[in-house]
Amino acid sequence: MEQPDAVPEVRRAATRPAHRPDGAEELEQLLLRHIRDVPDFPTPGVLFKDIAPLLADGPALAAVIGALAERYAGRVDGVVGIEARGFVLAAPLAVALGVGFVPVRKAGKLPGPTLVGSYALEYGTASIEVQTDAFAPGQRVVVLDDVLATGGTAEAACELVERAGAQVMEVAVLMELGFLAGRQRLAGRSVHTLVTA
Ligand code: AMP
Repeated sequence: MEQPDAVPEVRRAATRPAHRPDGAEELEQLLLRHIRDVPDFPTPGVLFKDIAPLLADGPALAAVIGALAERYAGRVDGVVGIEARGFVLAAPLAVALGVGFVPVRKAGKLPGPTLVGSYALEYGTASIEVQTDAFAPGQRVVVLDDVLATGGTAEAACELVERAGAQVMEVAVLMELGFLAGRQRLAGRSVHTLVTA
């Protein structure tokens, strides 16, 4: 026999947008299901967090972008994506928010005057760039990437964005690798992660 409260629950489910999970915990589970662990990639000893399954799943991708859009609606007037997987997330977020997208790219890819930031890797250094005229003065942005590992990339990106005249409201990533303590590197900054591994 049908439970008395079954009908209202079904109605609630039917009126809820399919791409919007109920809350942070549901979103966490969704991300854990759609981010694949690839051992020893790109080098031995690294456990690579592959977001390709998430990108390939329309409702899952929409849920993630929807959750981020809900968080940043009215709070930012630009979205910065870090090359390359950050681009894939930042562009749809910018569209959802009705604001612009700015790429932070690996050195040598952007035309015209640029600002360059360098940061240390385990071996050697890496450089990233942003165009000098990318932002309006004081523009409020969220800096977005897929994974926060040691935090070096995000820290360098934030410094670059600020040197270009914008204001970093928050750093957002889908997944934070807690054991690498990237958050400490970003001390003093607001960091938002959808799931921690
Ligand atoms: P980090 O500067 O150490 O925080 O590294 C972050 C950048 O490297 C991000 O752009 C990530 O896409 C990438 N990255 C670092 N470690 C991983 C990992 N284990 N799985 C996937 N991407 C990673």
